[in-house]
Amino acid sequence: MKTSTIVAATVGTLAVATVGYAIYFDQKRRSDPEFRRKLKKEKKRAMKQMKEEEKKKTTKTAQTVEEALAGIKEEDFPTSMEEREKFCMEQLSTGEALFTSGPDNYDMAAICFYKALKVYPAPAELVMVYQKTIPQEVFTLVMGMLSMDVHKKQEKYYTVFPPKEMNVKVDELPEGLTADGQKVVRRGLIATKDFAVGETIYSESPIISSLEPSMEGGEFCHYCLKQIVEEESKIRCGTCSKVVFCSTACESSAMTEFHAVLCTKDSEDASSPERGLYDYTKETNNKYPEMIAKFLIRMVHEETVNSGEEYNLFDHIERLRFLEVRPSAAEEKEIELLKTALGSKIPGIEEFINEERYLTLKGKLLYNAYGVSTSLDASRSVEPSPEQYRSVHDAPVVGAGFYRVSSYMSHSCDPNTKIAYHDHHNSLSVVATKAVKAGDELHVGFIDQKNGTLSTEERRQELFQHYRFKCMCPVCETD
Ligand SMILES: [Zn+2]
Ligand SMILES: [Zn+2]
Ligand SMILES: [Zn+2]
Repeated sequence: MKTSTIVAATVGTLAVATVGYAIYFDQKRRSDPEFRRKLKKEKKRAMKQMKEEEKKKTTKTAQTVEEALAGIKEEDFPTSMEEREKFCMEQLSTGEALFTSGPDNYDMAAICFYKALKVYPAPAELVMVYQKTIPQEVFTLVMGMLSMDVHKKQEKYYTVFPPKEMNVKVDELPEGLTADGQKVVRRGLIATKDFAVGETIYSESPIISSLEPSMEGGEFCHYCLKQIVEEESKIRCGTCSKVVFCSTACESSAMTEFHAVLCTKDSEDASSPERGLYDYTKETNNKYPEMIAKFLIRMVHEETVNSGEEYNLFDHIERLRFLEVRPSAAEEKEIELLKTALGSKIPGIEEFINEERYLTLKGKLLYNAYGVSTSLDASRSVEPSPEQYRSVHDAPVVGAGFYRVSSYMSHSCDPNTKIAYHDHHNSLSVVATKAVKAGDELHVGFIDQKNGTLSTEERRQELFQHYRFKCMCPVCETD
């Protein structure tokens, strides 16, 4: 069968799912580890093959790919669903006509197939169709273009993120050698300006945050985690009695970003799909499953609004380190609860939340989340959740937040910064506690050192237990 025929059939079936299909498959394209692995594998294979070809054809293939990519611009691609589908089919049939007319037109054919791939909602599937239907040389060219494309976007990430005005950059830092002499690098957060003690280096809002389950519905805002001092200024959710907001702005942000999906609605009975997740959160005092649900809803929501951002939420978090979480009965249950809570509202999400993705997201939270302390009362006692977060605060922690930039900070037992919540909501500020010079790496303490009473041994043990690294900070090393 011809490529365009197979694709036409597939498009026909997929189009039935309309909106859900667009959201789900676009997301899948960007975040499917299987697809990424395949790309990586294909990239390796294509590159290897390209090298061999290079020898034979004196770099003709690589040059073709470079040149072809240089001539293709993002604005050449249509934006609406219908136009994209039409464009895709046109490219496919032109590509076919070109390659059947002989090897002289393989380069041009490859460009068409590459363009079709750029707009097709499920590119991983289209790659598989290509593999079976187009000549090997053309396929190699297409894969070369695709991998260079992905590579370019990946490479560019740290040149545009974090934004310049945050006064920091993410850079690779040497981290010694492996047993067999290979250089090890890790990513760290570097100041791009000098800062005096007490100066705020930057502030950022979280991707997601959640209150400790025991604090929910009391006097803290469900959206920004701020303490609501005046009873009369409390805004209650219009449909449930489980959460409160500090302002109508927080209420409306929460609604558009996640609460409309997660609201337990008092009018519904106790067995409603959203209640399962809510009850589990309360019973186990665990908030990370709910944070993952919020993240997934935001991620899908992001697809429906054109924010103009080059990198989406998933692009931001996929680069972050994470703890490996071994699946247990608890995670299995959490995955089920998420599927139930979101499944009916977000088509395709049930397939999306597989075990691997869920565990990765949980591992990212466990490694990167910060304890958020917004309480105005330093002596307040909060029932701590069993889930870990980075925390060295004088004030009690009322919840946790997951931040794009601050996740890159590494630990030191003698850090040069501390975390502050200046406005008493979940916007995190990094404050210099030592003089910081441009080029210095920023460190923060991940664990409470109990006013310096912990020994090196104890600190290392605690860090290893929670974050699985052996602290090599100057304090630990000189001890
Ligand atoms: Zn608020
Ligand atoms: Zn509600
Ligand atoms: Zn240390």
